Amino acid sequence: MSLQDEIAQVRTEALAAFQSAGDANALEAARIKYIGSNGAVKAFMKRLGEVPKDQKPAAGQALNALKDELTNAHEAAKGAKASAAPKSAVAFDYSEPLAPERVHAAGKLHPLTRTVNELRDLLRALGFEVVEGPEVEDERHNFDDLNIPADHPARDSFDTFFLNKDALLRSQTSTVQVRVMESRRPPVRVIAPGRVYRPDIIDATHHSTFHQIEGLYVDKGVTMADLKGTLQLFVNGLFGEGTRIRFRPSFFPFTEPSAELDCSCPACGGDGCNVCKDSGWVELGGCGMVDPAVFEAINKARGDHAYDPDVWSGFAFGFGIERLAMRRHGITDIRRFLENDLRFLRQI
Ligand SMILES: [Zn+2]
Repeated sequence: MSLQDEIAQVRTEALAAFQSAGDANALEAARIKYIGSNGAVKAFMKRLGEVPKDQKPAAGQALNALKDELTNAHEAAKGAKASAAPKSAVAFDYSEPLAPERVHAAGKLHPLTRTVNELRDLLRALGFEVVEGPEVEDERHNFDDLNIPADHPARDSFDTFFLNKDALLRSQTSTVQVRVMESRRPPVRVIAPGRVYRPDIIDATHHSTFHQIEGLYVDKGVTMADLKGTLQLFVNGLFGEGTRIRFRPSFFPFTEPSAELDCSCPACGGDGCNVCKDSGWVELGGCGMVDPAVFEAINKARGDHAYDPDVWSGFAFGFGIERLAMRRHGITDIRRFLENDLRFLRQI
């Protein structure tokens, strides 16, 4: 075999060895074997003496070129190993730029929280104060003092979650009205947003856990006109100026007279569509004038006559927050609020 052939063979072996080295140690071993100070290339240099004089310059150049080529190939193999290593060794590459969709991935408030905040801001402007009450209640606050008779079907365990004989999960935020009037003398002007529970069959429009916002205003000379004016402002803030409202006569044990509040359909503006079933109106919630029997129950609990029905009058309203948010954003399934599906939450 001529020196030239031997060089060609070593070149092929060395390139293959650098390329296939499984780890840094194998690569270093290959470097020592081929381009180290006692390696194959060095050995060829020593044998240049064997080469005929006229071919020496060409052979020398060829060996230098081989040495450069193998040195470069070794560097390249070493570089590839170094950049591959962190990927398998550490879970996070701090130098990797963030993907564009992750750069602005700041959190935001849940649609229900935002709806509550908007309602709170609207009603605060009218002087209402935000109050809270417990979610675990007793029958007195959830029923008795709200003038709900002992045999009323709402007290049935099919309509209320009873924890035991004396405790239940509140089925309405009206409980907070009772607690506020028990602890404060009139006038009062409060709103109470909060979670309520009912053993309903869960479907697109019913859930066992949902939210209500309750409003109570007690003062001298409060009338149904004040109630309507307040709710008109509330609806304008939520659905835009020009939204019409109407009262439909209704019945609730704790208000007299009672009304259901409707507003002109936010989806079609009142022309009629599938959301409003072509009526042009959608239902928002219940309201009315505080029943004097509620004032008397409060007086009894307080042991005084602070809420004299001949002196004080008041209105109350209660709306389902999910329903308001659904009307506002055109959402058709109440279950979406609790599913934590980011695609839904980002869309709102
Ligand atoms: Zn409509």
